[in-house]
Amino acid sequence: MASNRSAILLGAAFGAGAFAAGFLLSRGTLPSQERTTYALRDDILIHGNKDLKEIALTFDDGPNPVTARPILDILGRERVNATFFVVGKMVERSPGLVRRMMNEGHEVANHTYSHPQLTGMDASAIRMEIARCGKAVHEATGAHTNLFRPPGMRYDEIVIRTAQDLGYVTVHWNVAAQDFKPRDPARIASAVLGNAQPGSVILLHGHPNTVQALPAIIRELKSRGYRFVRVSQMLGRLPRPVYVKSNAFGVDRDALARMSARASQGIASRGDRNGSRRSVRPMADAALPTPSGFRKDGLDDPAWY
Ligand SMILES: [Zn+2]
Repeated sequence: MASNRSAILLGAAFGAGAFAAGFLLSRGTLPSQERTTYALRDDILIHGNKDLKEIALTFDDGPNPVTARPILDILGRERVNATFFVVGKMVERSPGLVRRMMNEGHEVANHTYSHPQLTGMDASAIRMEIARCGKAVHEATGAHTNLFRPPGMRYDEIVIRTAQDLGYVTVHWNVAAQDFKPRDPARIASAVLGNAQPGSVILLHGHPNTVQALPAIIRELKSRGYRFVRVSQMLGRLPRPVYVKSNAFGVDRDALARMSARASQGIASRGDRNGSRRSVRPMADAALPTPSGFRKDGLDDPAWY
């Protein structure tokens, strides 16, 4: 994805400052010809356009089989779209939830297959983790992922470069609710609301307390005049825009049908010996959730405000 490489972005904010400083220092070790191909530090989204009252809600580690539905219900009721950084093995467990995310206008992004700490792993293992998550999403939805967030936001040059090679833009955050552990819903809300600014990328998780805090977070940010955007929309509205193909427009039924046909052919040709092996899940239309009905591409929809 050439547009990713010619990219981008942004200054550091909040806790991002420390890692950015470390990152700049580590760049000094890059071989010179690699330094000329792209600027590593410039290929990570840390926050959106600070001149726009836009917020990106991002949910990591899902789909959580317990909380994904109530989160999607709230987002649908509030007519707000978000970006879900999913874990591949969770996708395999609940592919229908990932299809629902896309069908309801949310973006689905890559958060590795098994959520390991990527720093210290070799490039081929990192590549496997990212690619396997992308494959899980593709098998569930027929769609590809183009946005990536490393687990724990731990990364080095190898992690970012490997993600770039696979066509991903890496997405940081600059407001965290610290809701990966049990935390009072009021504190989750105040952690977000106390730090949200134009262009904020907010990190949330699928904790039940987050579900309780979410309506208040959304309503208060709306009342302050913010609109909610998917990460790809935020990237496209930077001072120097970065265009990433979004997967937020519903599952790719044609791709699913093709995969399903290939899988059934494969099973037929393998015969009884491997007949029970299932390389792709069957994708009956009946299994797809009904879209919620609100506009999927709501970028200019006043109802978003
Ligand atoms: Zn995570």
